[in-house]
Amino acid sequence: NLSDKLDKAFHILKGHGKITEVNVADTLKEVRRALLDADVNFKIAKDFTNRVKEKALGQDVLTTLQPGQLMVKIVKDELTQLMGGEASGVNLSGTPSVILMSGLQGSGKTTFSGKLANFLQTKKNKKVLLVACDVYRPAAINQLHVVGDQLKVEVYSEEGNNNPVQIAENAIKHAKSNGFNVVIVDTAGRLAVDEAMMTEIANIHKAITPHETLFVVDSMTGQDAVNTAKAFNDRLNFDGVVLTKLDGDTRGGAAISIKSVVNKPIKFIGTGEKMDAIDVFYPERMADRILGMGDVISLVERAQAQYDEEEARKIQKKIAKNEFGFDDFLNQIQQVKNMGSMKDLVGMLPGMGKALKDVEIEDDAFKHIEAIIQSMTPKERSTPSIIDVKRKARIAKGSGTDVQQVNQLLKQFDQMSKMMKMMQGAKGKNLMRMMGQ
Ligand code: GDP
Ligand code: MG
Repeated sequence: NLSDKLDKAFHILKGHGKITEVNVADTLKEVRRALLDADVNFKIAKDFTNRVKEKALGQDVLTTLQPGQLMVKIVKDELTQLMGGEASGVNLSGTPSVILMSGLQGSGKTTFSGKLANFLQTKKNKKVLLVACDVYRPAAINQLHVVGDQLKVEVYSEEGNNNPVQIAENAIKHAKSNGFNVVIVDTAGRLAVDEAMMTEIANIHKAITPHETLFVVDSMTGQDAVNTAKAFNDRLNFDGVVLTKLDGDTRGGAAISIKSVVNKPIKFIGTGEKMDAIDVFYPERMADRILGMGDVISLVERAQAQYDEEEARKIQKKIAKNEFGFDDFLNQIQQVKNMGSMKDLVGMLPGMGKALKDVEIEDDAFKHIEAIIQSMTPKERSTPSIIDVKRKARIAKGSGTDVQQVNQLLKQFDQMSKMMKMMQGAKGKNLMRMMGQ
C-alpha cells in the first residue's frame, strides 16, 4: 500500500556518507549530558565521549539504517567495555573460602551477606556460615540472625566480645571443624569513611586473609561512591564490587565511575530488599540500563535526526534541479540492501528489535535493477532521457536482462522522479516530515 511505499522511499532517502565531526558534535553533547545525569563523574564522562568520538569519526554509515543507530551502538559498546568484560564470580577455592564484606553503613552489607549465603547455598550447593562482626550495634547482630533463620543458614556471633578480629578468627576455626565450605564475614560500617573504621577492617583483612574481599556500595550515592570506593580500595585492595539498590530509579552511573577509578570488576548487583534480589553483574545489561533509563537513545536519535534531515534536503535539491539520476538511485539501493545485515545488530539495541521485526529485506529484489543500472554509461545514468531504443537494447544485453525489464525500470524511475518532484511542493515538505516519523 501507499504508506508502505512512502516508508520505503524515506528509508531510501535516509542516511548518507560518513560520520563527521560536524554531525557527531550534538550527539556527543547529549551523550555527555545523559552520563552526567546518570551520576557519572565529569572527567570520566568527558574521556568517554572523546573515545566515542574517535571511534565514530570516519565510520562508514552506508551500512546502517541511520547514523543515529550506529552512534547508539558505538556508545553502547564503549559503555560495556568501560564497565568490564565478562562477569566473574567469587573465588571459592578455599576450605573454607572466606569472603569479607566491606563498605559504609547502610550500603547493604548485611543484606547482601544474606543474599550471597542464600545464592551459594541454593545455587552452588555450599554449606555457608555467616559471621556477625558488627560489634557496635546489638541490633546489627540480631539483624544477621533474623536473616540466617529465614534462610536456614547458621550465623556465628559472640555475645559480649567486642573484638571483631577475634570473632572472625574464631568463626573460621568453627567453620573448619564443622565442614563449612564458605564463611561470609559481615562487618561494621560508618556513615562516612573514617580512620577508626578503616583500621578495623584492615586489621580483620590482615588477620583472616580472605579469598575474596567485596566492597558493597549503594548505587544511589552517586558520585560519592567513587571516593568511598577509592578509600576502601587503597586500604584493602579489594577483589570486586557489589552494587546495591539498583531496583530504585538510580541510573547506575556509579558503576561506570567506580570501575574507571578503582579498576576492579563489579561482580554482583542487589535489586531489592528480599533475599533472592541478587544478580550477577552483566556489563552489557548495565549499558542497556544506562542508555535506556537516561533516554540516551532518544536523545542520540533526535540529535542525529537533524543530520539526516540535512542529507534528505540535499537529495531534495537534486530532485528539484532534475539532477537525481540513476547513480543516486543505485546508491540508495545499496543502503536499503545493507539494512539486512544491520537487522541483527540493531535488533540488539533496546527497543529497536521490535521496530525492525516487520521490515523484510529480500536480497535478490534489486539484482536486476542493479545490473541494468551498472550497464548504463555515466551519461545515461545522469540523463536517462537520452536512453533510446538502441541504447535500451545494449543495456539489456549488457545486464543479461531484456528490453522489457529495462523499459520497466526506466518507467519506474520516471514515476519515482515525478513523485519526488511532487513532494517538493509546500505540501511535500510536510509529507517528507511525516515520513520521517
Ligand atoms: P549495612 O549497614 O551495610 O549492613 O546495610 P543493610 O544490609 O542493613 O541495608 C541497609 C538498608 O538497605 C536496609 O533497609 C536494606 O533492606 C536495604 N537494602 C539493601 N540492599 C538493598 C537493595 O538491593 N535494594 C533495596 N531496595 N534495598 C536494599
Ligand atoms: Mg550491617
